[in-house]
Amino acid sequence: MTFSSLGLSEPLLRAVAERNYTTPTPVQVDAIPAVLRGGDVWASAQTGSGKTAAFALPILQRLAAGRRERGRFVRALVLAPTRELAAQIGESFRLYGRWLPEPIKILVVYGGVSINPQMMALGGGADVIVATPGRLLDLIDHNAVSLGAVSTLVLDEADRLFDLGFSAELNRILALLPARRQNLLFSATFPPEVEALATGLLRDPVRIEVAAATTTTPDILQRAIEVAPPRRTQLLRHLIEENKWTRVLVFVATKYATEHVAEKLRKAGISATAFHGELSQGARTQALAAFKASQVQVLITTDLASRGIDIAQMPVVVNFDLPRSATDYTHRIGRTGRAGESGLAVNFISASTHAHFRLIEKRNGFSLLREQLEGFEPEELEVPADPTGGIKGKRPNKKDKARAAAAKAAGQEPPPPAAKEKKFSWPRVR
Ligand code: AMP
Repeated sequence: MTFSSLGLSEPLLRAVAERNYTTPTPVQVDAIPAVLRGGDVWASAQTGSGKTAAFALPILQRLAAGRRERGRFVRALVLAPTRELAAQIGESFRLYGRWLPEPIKILVVYGGVSINPQMMALGGGADVIVATPGRLLDLIDHNAVSLGAVSTLVLDEADRLFDLGFSAELNRILALLPARRQNLLFSATFPPEVEALATGLLRDPVRIEVAAATTTTPDILQRAIEVAPPRRTQLLRHLIEENKWTRVLVFVATKYATEHVAEKLRKAGISATAFHGELSQGARTQALAAFKASQVQVLITTDLASRGIDIAQMPVVVNFDLPRSATDYTHRIGRTGRAGESGLAVNFISASTHAHFRLIEKRNGFSLLREQLEGFEPEELEVPADPTGGIKGKRPNKKDKARAAAAKAAGQEPPPPAAKEKKFSWPRVR
């Protein structure tokens, strides 16, 4: 299978060749002809599957062949959940469209930065807008843009749009779109909200399922290492030095932990930087750029970086803290082993997260050998408060917090402290 056999035009084939893509990925094989035909597409494809090119290339081709709009109109609208993903998609459109005879105007708009330059840039409309939902609505409220001529809508990482609480924004945006349009929906997972959205939105879609989640991709080697929590930074440092890892993405549970672990590594002479949602947009962009340019060896992040961010050659991902859900696990380890490269995903498992990891394994249909490394073998540990763990882990989720707040408001006593310590032996799972 080649790109030219998918019906793409010469200028786009030239851009693809320039990116050194020799063969289309499975999602591209199915989606490109379907999008070129103008129909709706419903694809379950992960970041890393080549899905951006799967929609950007045919959209560019249709825009190049179609009629220009005048005024503040937009022809193709791509909604993405995070600024980083939006920026990345915009960049892909620019790269793929660079040889088209007539320039295609592509704009990326997201919140967290001043709205004025985006309003100025929107003067005269745009062929493609890649936007996060909140900022797009701000621009609409400022009369800077109109969605009345959108001919193609892309919802990228639709599941994540819901995770991040964008459903109200999404509904407002959908109501502003013309009824006759092409809809393309990409999502790694299909929770009920996405199923409902897809059913209501898509007309006779071409259904594309790209085989298997990243967890079963043979290109990603997964490891589970048992370690006592206080020794994790030392273990991380040991692994980095021992294996001469040059580029490592480390996931932790909190913003504080990103700073804390980064600081400890820096003290040990390893260049590390924290990446989380409370950094300014400038600091986020800078941290990511330094990491991509290999000026920083270790990027320590919360789940902010677990989806969408495309960093070429990301050989190692470490779950210093485990993700809350099996789906988040898939997204995190999907940062590595992208587009055919091989990758390594390392999980740190402690007594209190042991059961939680079992559930992640079960839900994702795999089972890993538990390893212990010399010098880092965990001692017998105290039993965790909830030894059965649970897929949401011990940390309070939104509901727990709401319940706690309700109890407090009702003047009730806080729950009694956890049962007194018992000794815990490591269950062997082989
Ligand atoms: P995506 O899933 O869109 O985030 O793409 C993941 C990565 O795969 C990006 O770095 C793309 O540049 C790359 N890519 C997309 N299509 C191909 C292809 N056909 N061959 C090789 N790499 C590709």
